[in-house]
Amino acid sequence: MKKVGFIGLGIMGSGMAANLVKKGYAVTVWNRDQSKTAPLAELGASVATGIVALAQEVEVVVSMLRDDAVVRQVLLEQAIPNAKPGTTFIDMSTVTPGMARQLAESAEAKGCHFLDAPVSGSKAAAAGGQLNIMVGGAAEVLEAQRDILAAMGQNIVHVGPNGASAFLKLANNQLAAVMLAAMGESLALIEKAGIDRTMALEALVGTVSRVAQLKQAKIQARDWDTQFALDLMHKDLTQTLQAADELGIPMPVLATARESYQRARQNGKGHLDFAVITES
Ligand code: NAP
Repeated sequence: MKKVGFIGLGIMGSGMAANLVKKGYAVTVWNRDQSKTAPLAELGASVATGIVALAQEVEVVVSMLRDDAVVRQVLLEQAIPNAKPGTTFIDMSTVTPGMARQLAESAEAKGCHFLDAPVSGSKAAAAGGQLNIMVGGAAEVLEAQRDILAAMGQNIVHVGPNGASAFLKLANNQLAAVMLAAMGESLALIEKAGIDRTMALEALVGTVSRVAQLKQAKIQARDWDTQFALDLMHKDLTQTLQAADELGIPMPVLATARESYQRARQNGKGHLDFAVITES
C-alpha cells in the first residue's frame, strides 16, 4: 500500500485521514495542534515530528488546510521544497485558483506531481467517505491517485487543468451562500407574518432544490421558451419586497436579485422564461 502523509486534521481532515487509515494505507499525519493527532494514532496512523519530516518519508501528501495563507506556509514554504522528486501532492483545501496554480508550478519545479482537489460535502460526508471531489491537474496523475481519492469520496470529477477545480468550488459555494442568505430572508418574513417556521421550512427546502432540478434541462439547452415569465417573477419579487416593507423586514439579498431581474427586463428578456436570469 502507498505511504500517504496527511496534513491538517481539522473538522474535515480528521475524518478524511481516518478513512485512509481504515482503507489500509500507511498514513503519517501532522497537525499544528498536536492533540488532534491522538485519535488518528489510536486508529494506527504514525505521527510525524514535523512537516518536513512527513514530506520526506511519504509518496503522496494530502492536505486539508484553512486557506491560501496556511497552504503557502505549510506546502509552498516547507513540504514541497523538501519532498523527494516523484512525490504527489493533493491539496484538498478550498483555496484560490492562483494558489492552486502556484502549488502546481512549485511541485513541478521540484520534479513532483500536483492535484488541486477541493471538496463539497461537510463534516458527516468527510467522516463517511462520501465527499464530492473536484479535481484539477493532469489526467494521468489523477488516474495514478484515484484510489486515494476514492477512499475519501464517492464522486470524483476531473474538472480540468490545475486551478480549474478552485473555480468550480468557489462557484458552488457562492451559490450555496446566496441561496441560504435568501432563505434567511424568507424565514424572517414567514416568522414576522406569524406562520409556523417548521412547516414553512419544509416547503422552502423543497423549493430550493426543486427549482434547480426543474430548470436544469432548460438552462443546459439555453431554452428560454416561457413556462414562467421573467416579468412575472419580477412582479413577485416586487410584491415580496412590498410585503417585507410593511412588516419592517430588510431583504437585501432579494433587493439586489430583483435588480438583476429588472436589468434583464430592460434588455428585452421580460417575456422569456425566468431561467434566462442564469445568463443575464
Ligand atoms: P478547520 O476545522 O478549521 O481546520 C483547518 C485546518 O487548518 C486545521 O488542521 C488547522 O490546524 C489548520 N491550520 C489553520 N491555521 C494553520 C496554521 N497557521 N498553520 C498550520 N495549520 C493551520 O476547517 P475545516 O472545516 O476542516 O476546513 C478545511 C478546508 O476545507 C477549508 O479550506 C474549508 O474551506 C474547506 N471545506 C470545509 C467544509 C466544511 O463543511 N467544514 C466543506 C468543504 C470544504 P489546527 O487544528 O492546529 O487549528
